[in-house]
Amino acid sequence: MSDMRINGQRLWDSLMELAQIGATAKGGVKRLALTDLDKQGRDLVVRWGREAGMSVTVDQIGNVFMRREGTNNALPPVMTGSHIDTQPTGGKFDGNYGVLAGLEVVRTLNDLNIRTEAPIEVAFWTNEEGSRFVPVMMGSGVFCGAFTLETAYAARDTEGKSVGEELARIGYKGEQVPGDHPIGAYFETHIEQGPVLEDADKVIGVVPAVMGLSWYDCVVKGMEAHAGPTPMGLRKDALQVATRIMQQVVAIADRYPPYGRGTVGMVQVFPNSRNVIPGEVKFSIDLRNVNDELLNTMHEEMLAYIEQTRKDTGLEISIERVSYYPPCPFHPDCVDAVRKATAKLGYSTMDVVSGAGHDAIYTARLAPSGMIFVPCKDGISHNEIEDAKAEHLEAGCNVLLHAMLERARAA
Ligand SMILES: [Zn+2]
Repeated sequence: MSDMRINGQRLWDSLMELAQIGATAKGGVKRLALTDLDKQGRDLVVRWGREAGMSVTVDQIGNVFMRREGTNNALPPVMTGSHIDTQPTGGKFDGNYGVLAGLEVVRTLNDLNIRTEAPIEVAFWTNEEGSRFVPVMMGSGVFCGAFTLETAYAARDTEGKSVGEELARIGYKGEQVPGDHPIGAYFETHIEQGPVLEDADKVIGVVPAVMGLSWYDCVVKGMEAHAGPTPMGLRKDALQVATRIMQQVVAIADRYPPYGRGTVGMVQVFPNSRNVIPGEVKFSIDLRNVNDELLNTMHEEMLAYIEQTRKDTGLEISIERVSYYPPCPFHPDCVDAVRKATAKLGYSTMDVVSGAGHDAIYTARLAPSGMIFVPCKDGISHNEIEDAKAEHLEAGCNVLLHAMLERARAA
């Protein structure tokens, strides 16, 4: 049993075939959630699932569950999966790898004629990327009750098309009530989407947790005035004050290594004219940490700094928290299963905390969950140049196979 291996070439070939649907000129993929291309991708994966002997269930938010029966079908399934929607300039591996690695596990079990006690399921979740429709991780979010089906259905893209309409149009508005679907354990394989594994020259990332995050919208209001006649001491320059806060975002993150993160990624300056003192600056703040207490400390320090800056400058500064996800530690049993499988297979490994969100955050609210990371080139993802080595993808899939077998038990 322990020398069982998946077929790396078959996994690679499937990834490349799926990547042709929505392929971009620069070698990436554009397959936005609930578009015609998403339908084609879904249809292909479902066809592969059926060819591998799996039955298929679709729930009301379009999550798809492909099932291989066990010898004891009263047991909840050991599930794996991810998503097949992509960013507008996405890559071939983000999400797709997690789904097709699951399919490859089933194909391997079929080849070797191995039955498991618990059923095995391969899922793909609707609109993980959140690019066309907000919120992100929509399918798994509805599944675990983070928000309602009605909220999800009502979300609209920039053309005004709703999730409810688009799901029906592409034929993936299923019958099953989201969440009305037991999960015994959930594993998700994913490219790391960061540079840590590659930098340390390790093959498998064991993922103990996903970072929590706080998102804010900050607005600094000053006074627009002519850049020449207004002396330096008599200005209310919103941008100069905003940049102090932006520096502080990074300083706060630096005070809480190794998992403190602070980013200002979006800035709007008004009126954005070279000879006008900026009257208003709007910008985003993204704070992260794997420890909720530290994340909260970072939050408090941010607010205190803004309060102080308000006093020091007399400018109007508003800050609003627009999103908060607590850190998500994965279940020790699942983390252990991944660790053991990696050791058994002899791959080099290290722990990698995920800085990005994944569907597994939501499944973790319902069932023991865990993740397996493999390196991606230069740590780059959400980009058409996203790349990963076939041997690493194969290794991650082997770990998935053995971790799932430990939970589902070969009959
Ligand atoms: Zn992803």
